[in-house]
Amino acid sequence: MQNKILLTEDQIPTQWYNIIPDLPSPPPPPLHPGTMQPIGPDDLAPLFPMALIMQEVTQDSYVDIPGGVLDVYRLWRPSPLFRAHRLEKALDTPARIYYKYEGVSPAGSHKPNTAVPQAYYNHQEGITKLTTETGAGQWGTALAFATAQYGIECEIWQVAASYRAKPYRRIMMEVYGATVHSSPSDITEYGRSLLAAYPDHPGSLGIAISEAVAAAVADPKTRYSLGSVLNHVLMHQTVIGEEALLQMAMVGETPDLLVGCTGGGSNFGGLAFPFLREKMAGRMNPVIRCVEPAACPSLTKGEYRYDFGDTAGMTPLLKMHTLGHDFIPPTIHAGGLRYHGMSPLVSHIYELGLAEAEAIPQTECFAGALTFARNEGILPAPEPTHAIAAAIREAKRCKETGEAKVILTALCGHGHLDLAAYENYLSGKMEDYELTEKELADAMSTVPVMA
Ligand SMILES: *Cc1c(COP(=O)(O)O)cnc(C)c1O
Repeated sequence: MQNKILLTEDQIPTQWYNIIPDLPSPPPPPLHPGTMQPIGPDDLAPLFPMALIMQEVTQDSYVDIPGGVLDVYRLWRPSPLFRAHRLEKALDTPARIYYKYEGVSPAGSHKPNTAVPQAYYNHQEGITKLTTETGAGQWGTALAFATAQYGIECEIWQVAASYRAKPYRRIMMEVYGATVHSSPSDITEYGRSLLAAYPDHPGSLGIAISEAVAAAVADPKTRYSLGSVLNHVLMHQTVIGEEALLQMAMVGETPDLLVGCTGGGSNFGGLAFPFLREKMAGRMNPVIRCVEPAACPSLTKGEYRYDFGDTAGMTPLLKMHTLGHDFIPPTIHAGGLRYHGMSPLVSHIYELGLAEAEAIPQTECFAGALTFARNEGILPAPEPTHAIAAAIREAKRCKETGEAKVILTALCGHGHLDLAAYENYLSGKMEDYELTEKELADAMSTVPVMA
């Protein structure tokens, strides 16, 4: 009975996959909020290095992974694919469940798959410092690790609620050499205005993005780095799906269902896009499903329209599923899923009907995480508990129908620094939040109206 399906280091993918040319139509372009015209590379130059801007808009199906990135990938890639025999047995299901585990990376999640190339290209272009935001702390940890590999500085705005709840994440970022601020901070004008009105502000990813962007544009040697949402980020993550395709083939399986949690869409896209390529080519036919928190349901309840990626309205307008850029999601434990928007690429694919979505409340997610941990041993991060809960829902349906479906899920990180969330669940204090119609209407009222 094989548990781990492993590749060797020489099987690490040497190219990232760009799904855009394979789609029936391209995603709508980002717009300049001043002119409402599509933004050009020069508009983005104060924020990102040119190599990443070109990857953002490339029409090439594949982009070579530089040797200087592969060298660092080899620290943890290829990541293992597991067959969840013990979970299947506990659920008494005929389904066969596989999970691709990204918690083996130094940061403990999939995030270094893009942090490393982002730090690499910035370093190549002479940039000496990167700024970023972090919610749960996973992205900040990944970028702190990656910048240390190339000897550049890293300054991070961590969402206040998470800064208070997760001191170990901050310490980990500091171990890698990064500077970490609680956001809203007194360093940026926007942060100071929020703190003046509300000193205990819990922060949000949208606010932290505004602060990190403001700090980057103020210094010509500094650029900004985003851990999710953008096309180039999702493309870097496709190493997950490319490896998983090889690993599933090694055991002669193709998935009937692929599930991934979606915050900004990067771990989901990373696993799903290579499988979607195979599906569009008629070589397999998996159902592809995004799973999001019931408290922050951008795909299932948000509107598909142009909105800002941040709260202060400093970013280009992105066509995406959004709850409104100044929506502050409840402080659920899955901090990485507390984002008002969704990747424009995942939003577009969802609109095209190439992926479906469901929202799951956090208590069901943690119940699933306990079942998972007690059987498989790995303690999942709060974010992928959503994907696990969705896989368990499907496995239970299979038990009723007798179908032996093959389920593939992304276990995109471990939860060793999220034990407070588990304690909250174990002590019976965890609550569920469902977004009300009124909250949604209020938040959407600030979204710019397009002609
Ligand atoms: C950041 C993060 C997420 C959410 O981001 P995506 O871009 O949607 O993947 C999910 N899980 C983990 C473990 C994360 O670190």
